[in-house]
Amino acid sequence: MFTYYMPTKLYVGEDALLKNENALILGKRAMVVTGKSSGEKSGALSDVLSILKAKEIPYLVYDKIENNPTLEAMVAGGTAARKFGADFLIGIGGGSPLDAAKAIGVFCQNPPSETFAPEDVFTGVFAKKPLPMAAIPTTAGTGSEVTQYSILTVRSIENKKSFSTPEFYTAAFLDGRYTKNLPLQIARNTAADAMCHLLEGLTCRRATDGTDYIALEGLRVMGKALPSLLKGTLTDKDREHLLWASCLGGMVIAQTATTIVHSMGYPLTYHMDIPHGLANGLLLSEYMRRTEGVLPEKTKAALSALGMESVEALSSFLQAILPKPAGFTEAVLTGWTEKTILAKNVATCPFPVTREDEAQMYFASLL
Ligand code: NAP
Ligand code: ZN
Repeated sequence: MFTYYMPTKLYVGEDALLKNENALILGKRAMVVTGKSSGEKSGALSDVLSILKAKEIPYLVYDKIENNPTLEAMVAGGTAARKFGADFLIGIGGGSPLDAAKAIGVFCQNPPSETFAPEDVFTGVFAKKPLPMAAIPTTAGTGSEVTQYSILTVRSIENKKSFSTPEFYTAAFLDGRYTKNLPLQIARNTAADAMCHLLEGLTCRRATDGTDYIALEGLRVMGKALPSLLKGTLTDKDREHLLWASCLGGMVIAQTATTIVHSMGYPLTYHMDIPHGLANGLLLSEYMRRTEGVLPEKTKAALSALGMESVEALSSFLQAILPKPAGFTEAVLTGWTEKTILAKNVATCPFPVTREDEAQMYFASLL
């Protein structure tokens, strides 16, 4: 028995936004939440603004979102939205601006107070619903447009932390064109993130027949673009495939959550500023080696959907597209396992995990 819930209305394909302008308008005053450059470089911001102008919707462009947004920045974004009187949000960008829009929507409606401290956002319980939001992804990696998660950097715990609420589900516009100007390394890092979502979702204990079906299809679609991703010759079709595979990955983890690849990736991002997708991609092969031992059939099916014959082939592929950062030591990596072993997704791993196992996984991946 399984249930499947995914209430985001998707508009997918070339000119998905321009052909469905009315679907962007979820209120009367819009705050457009985007990164410093992704809105402009993707071309999505100018499409959005031309629609808002034509429809005479007052808007504020809030292009202050940094990579791995912090909790404090989200509170400030909520204040800006409230001051402007926004009643809906349009998130444009990679996972950072999309997750930021989600959190800003919560803080706009629920300003910090004596009874609601910023950290209380992680309970996922708010007095007022977050603002409605339209999402326009400009990277092909996180699938944030279809997940109920917002992942924030929290300095007080020196880590990243997620919260979730079904209220985040909105409209999303997926146009591969908006990922065209992604630098190759960002396209590779974010594709590795989507691959992790698909593989972790497929192999984790919370997988269902429904999510397996989506995950295998996501891996098959992604597999079509991998040769070009390796050569650095992505075509429009490849970009479309990667964006759709990323969305399918989001649909999977929205049901299954992720595994230790993600919780072990967070310290790499927090302490070493390693991009999210790269951090996960560096750990993926060691995870799949362990998964092969307990789920040989599923692992084989996943690899074959990607067009690969073995975990070794996956490992060589990832090594070819992902730079391996230097500067790790056994002592630092062992220290990180103190926190990562407490992550809730340890329990969803298909194999038993101890702190020592996590340390070994870090060593084999990063030293
Ligand atoms: P990102 O942090 O959103 O963006 C990475 C970089 O790509 C930024 O420098 C950005 O530039 C640039 N960029 C984005 N789109 C571009 C485009 N079309 N052309 C040129 N440059 C572009 O990266 P991400 O990997 O997509 O998102 C990572 C975040 O998502 C992390 O915080 C992670 O924890 C979170 N995440 C969330 C979920 C979820 O379910 N909610 C799942 C996985 C990951 P600018 O900054 O200048 O705009
Ligand atoms: Zn991820």
